[in-house]
Amino acid sequence: MKQRYYRVRADILDPVAPDRCRWIKDGELVFGRDGTIVHCGGRWDPRGRPVTAVAVPARSIVMPGLVDCHSHLSQYHVRGRGGHALLAWLRNYVFVEEARFRDKRYARTTAKSYYRKLLARGVTSVALYANYREGVLAAFREAERAGIRATIGYTLMDRGVPRPLRQPPRRALAECADILARTADGPHRLRFALNPRFALACSAAFMAEIGAFARRHRLHIQTHLAENLDELAAVRTAFPGARDYTSVYDRFGLLTPRTLLAHCIHLSDRERALVRDRGCGVVHCPSANMFLHSGRFPMEHWRGYPRLGLGSDVGAGPSFAMFDVMRDGYFVNMQSLERLFHLATLGGAAALGMGDVTGSLVPGKQADFLVVGIKESNRDSRRDILSDLIFKHDQRRIEKVFVAGREVFSA
Ligand SMILES: [Zn+2]
Repeated sequence: MKQRYYRVRADILDPVAPDRCRWIKDGELVFGRDGTIVHCGGRWDPRGRPVTAVAVPARSIVMPGLVDCHSHLSQYHVRGRGGHALLAWLRNYVFVEEARFRDKRYARTTAKSYYRKLLARGVTSVALYANYREGVLAAFREAERAGIRATIGYTLMDRGVPRPLRQPPRRALAECADILARTADGPHRLRFALNPRFALACSAAFMAEIGAFARRHRLHIQTHLAENLDELAAVRTAFPGARDYTSVYDRFGLLTPRTLLAHCIHLSDRERALVRDRGCGVVHCPSANMFLHSGRFPMEHWRGYPRLGLGSDVGAGPSFAMFDVMRDGYFVNMQSLERLFHLATLGGAAALGMGDVTGSLVPGKQADFLVVGIKESNRDSRRDILSDLIFKHDQRRIEKVFVAGREVFSA
């Protein structure tokens, strides 16, 4: 039987490289029923093959789905709580809230609402932190229902946090093995990750076991690195023999090509070189960094690094909308709008190790894309289009969202 194809006709914005994107006026995106893109460019000749047109509102553009490389599902209800820097903010708002995720029902209703918000804002791929076995399984179940692409991590802690959040390492890793077994046959869109929260919340023995477990099962790892100066000082006290913060993680085998490191603000040249050598994904979270007054991500040191993405860092970041995070990225570091667009799409996908799956609209990748209505824009200038998307939220409206060719949101 012939495969059926789906065609979307609109102006198309697509990242090609950092600082470069293509703008295809009156273009066409075509994908098969299996969700794989077969064409993106000018008009496609179906040569007798069956094609269904996807209806889109006038003056819409098509662009890849947005990639959020760092977010905390369990902080959904405490986002936007200001007045503190990192460590006090964790103590005052976050730990109390995360402890609630042991309740299966609470975890499930929160996850459902969280994914709905992400999709409505055009996020088609997310890397997140969840808490407890129950919370992680709820995050998987609801992600499967929502149709989103997600890397779902179990937040691992055995010290430095309130007792209800601490886990004996052996039990935590037994739970990880159980989650792995239960989710192995699920959709490929969903991946399990180990998330040692940060060096202050994990003992040396626990980090060593997490590193070994991740290596054995070829799992992704997510953690925080060098977000705040008080955190750096506390890490120095907790690991007096370590050369620096980055080497703490390296010693336990936590820096791999499947590792995502959020923040990376206060690093030395040597530490940045180590992160590069290990091939880790680096996640810049401008909104959260401004919100907690953590410092400025030094973009100038990461130019040309292929695995650099953006993260909302909800709840330190108050917004789920990656367009808002791109705007904040501009405020933190003056940079081209094309570069911000790349970070939130193709760069993010590469940071997640999914650059061959999503992040841009090229044949062979999955059809993860958005249909965005933009009012009164100058359609002859890609700069104007980018500026409307990033800075003028009243000018843009996300009309439809597709993941792997399946419509997962409609306004
Ligand atoms: Zn975070």
